[in-house]
Amino acid sequence: MSYDFSQFGCQVFNDTVMREKLSRSTYRSLRHSIDDGAPLGPEVAEVVASAMKDWAVEQGAAHFTHWFQPMTSFTAGKHDSFLTPAKDGRAILEFSGKELIVGEPDASSFPNGGLRNTFEARGYTSWDCTSPAFVREGTLYIPTAFYSYTGEALDTKTPLLRSNEAVAREALRVLKAFGNTTATRVSPTVGAEQEYFLVDREKYEQRLDLKLCGRTLFGARPAKGQEMEDHYCGRIRLRVRQFMRELDEALWDLGVPVKTEHNEAAPAQHELAPIFEQVNVAADHNQLIMEVIREIAKKNGLACLLHEKPFEGVNGSGKHNNWSLSTDDGQNLLDPGKTPYENMQFLVFLSAVITAVDNHADLLRMSAASAGNDFRLGGHEAPPAIISIFLGDQLTDILEHIAHGDVVEQTPSCILETGVATLPKLPRDGSDRNRTSPFAFTGNKFEFRMVGSSASIAVSSYILNTIVADSLSQIADRLETCADFDAEIQKIVQETVRDHGRVIFNGNNYTDEWVEEAARRGLPNFRNTVDAISAMIAPKNIALMEKFHVMSGAECQARYEIMLENYCKLVSIEGATMCEMSRRQILPAVTEFAGKMAQSYSRMKDAGVENEAVLNLVKQLSGYITEMERITGQLEAALDTCTGITDHFEDAKYHRDTVRTLMEELRGVSDRMETMVSAEAWPIPTYADLLYRV
Ligand code: ADP
Ligand code: MG
Repeated sequence: MSYDFSQFGCQVFNDTVMREKLSRSTYRSLRHSIDDGAPLGPEVAEVVASAMKDWAVEQGAAHFTHWFQPMTSFTAGKHDSFLTPAKDGRAILEFSGKELIVGEPDASSFPNGGLRNTFEARGYTSWDCTSPAFVREGTLYIPTAFYSYTGEALDTKTPLLRSNEAVAREALRVLKAFGNTTATRVSPTVGAEQEYFLVDREKYEQRLDLKLCGRTLFGARPAKGQEMEDHYCGRIRLRVRQFMRELDEALWDLGVPVKTEHNEAAPAQHELAPIFEQVNVAADHNQLIMEVIREIAKKNGLACLLHEKPFEGVNGSGKHNNWSLSTDDGQNLLDPGKTPYENMQFLVFLSAVITAVDNHADLLRMSAASAGNDFRLGGHEAPPAIISIFLGDQLTDILEHIAHGDVVEQTPSCILETGVATLPKLPRDGSDRNRTSPFAFTGNKFEFRMVGSSASIAVSSYILNTIVADSLSQIADRLETCADFDAEIQKIVQETVRDHGRVIFNGNNYTDEWVEEAARRGLPNFRNTVDAISAMIAPKNIALMEKFHVMSGAECQARYEIMLENYCKLVSIEGATMCEMSRRQILPAVTEFAGKMAQSYSRMKDAGVENEAVLNLVKQLSGYITEMERITGQLEAALDTCTGITDHFEDAKYHRDTVRTLMEELRGVSDRMETMVSAEAWPIPTYADLLYRV
């Protein structure tokens, strides 16, 4: 049976439903709030709430929840029923305007980075009407922002909404300077490609590391990895196809416009890409995707791994943040366009992005930092930890020609006229693909590829919005006051190439030569999370966040603390999981196997065959057992030591340098033993079981 596309968004309180369920004047007021940010009066809220409740009940809902995104990269919300007892002993269903607009969850159990003392547990959620409410499993979900008693943002959505306003305002100033009188709004757009792994549920359940940490902490590499490159866009297995179909349908019902599903580079790895949307909605939808994908996998006897690096030696997973700016008069501001006017404007917006990325590479790098992503960035697969921009040869060429003040000679068939003598002509399709670049221009948008697969897309998006707002603001200042507009544009482009051209790199980002070259160019290289997250509290960055009202100094500080804390907690949990698996699964299994082998040796000897090779195997295993026991003890001691470190930064360094090093050593011993004991004796499913048995 095929999907009935008239069902798309059937669980969403979308524009069509609003028109149908609300009076014209209520609809107009609500639309005005959604589109222009106008405050919603209490009477309107009352009517909207009631209509929303009636509609939700028709969809089978009995509960509502204020759905929010605390700084955990998961979503949260408590579920309240619509039920109110009536005087006659029966129940009626009620949902007031106030209940729609504000909620008061206990905030004490969410990360706050010191923003809120535990005795001030009060937190508030406030309705974000720009992201549509929806019904899921009998509950009306109301997207909300989450903040503390004192008004500080405790979530990822609030800074995102603030950054949207900042970049929209500055972009509009630039457009006005170009004489655009029809655009009244600019919105960042995002399409987040999501990579993930699927493994068999039963095998997953047998691995404590997968269940607790989302990645394998032990595991020798199988005889076949991804070297044959036979998985990427290969035939999708029946079971996976069934899963993808159910996933698509569940997401379509929720109005998530997923479009593309394919196999990714690694065995058992897949990708899903939705059509881009206004960033706030895209961020909410990506959270929904991550939740629904796990559930549908479970229903199909599978487990979905969203971790950045579930398997060592196999490609990890990312989340490509495709980002652009669009106007309400239908322009994509990063589209080179078809007319001279658009081309000039494009060059200016392009310059703004290049400048932003070079000036704030540290912030962009920080936005992709996490304990899981450290295994990916800088490995020879995902983009490196160094931020650079891929523009493609033709665009780069054009910028350089402008920088040198000469006109580009091109054949007329493949060029677009700028109409300005001193500006070169633009090629129609100036960019090929470069899969190694962390920040690539892909024709009419930029693709930020560093983001980890489990991260919220909101963080990298609010950083992108803010840094681009910064450079647009400077450009707007100049364009608004200059005497010669064309000359000023040329100067802006020239200065961009002169001052920020170093961030453009079209070559292979995976090579060691690039690492050296980047250092010569003075580009920062934050190799790991602990080094990268200090950017959040660098004075220049706090000033930037404050200037554009995206975050206060205290909110930046809180995010920094939370990132450090999360890093330490994750590494600690992984370390403890390894100790448990080592002591309770791997050591006993190998000891038993070695004992049996020793018995075999004795029996063979009794029969008159003295085999040195067997004895050597027993001795080797015995040596590894000793080593594994010793490192396990060291790791346990190290985990104990961390509990005594009070400074978060010192703690994080200890986790990075001591705990993770011991974890690697422990794994090394175990993986060597795994290749020596019989398949039956190994106590947990192997890489081959996980990667090839879906
Ligand atoms: P690929 O990277 O495979 O070439 P696509 O062209 O399909 O991919 O785009 C990848 C993602 O980029 C999709 O989610 C798509 O919707 C998104 N995208 C396309 N145009 C824009 C845009 N103007 N703004 C933001 N995202 C966009
Ligand atoms: Mg892509």
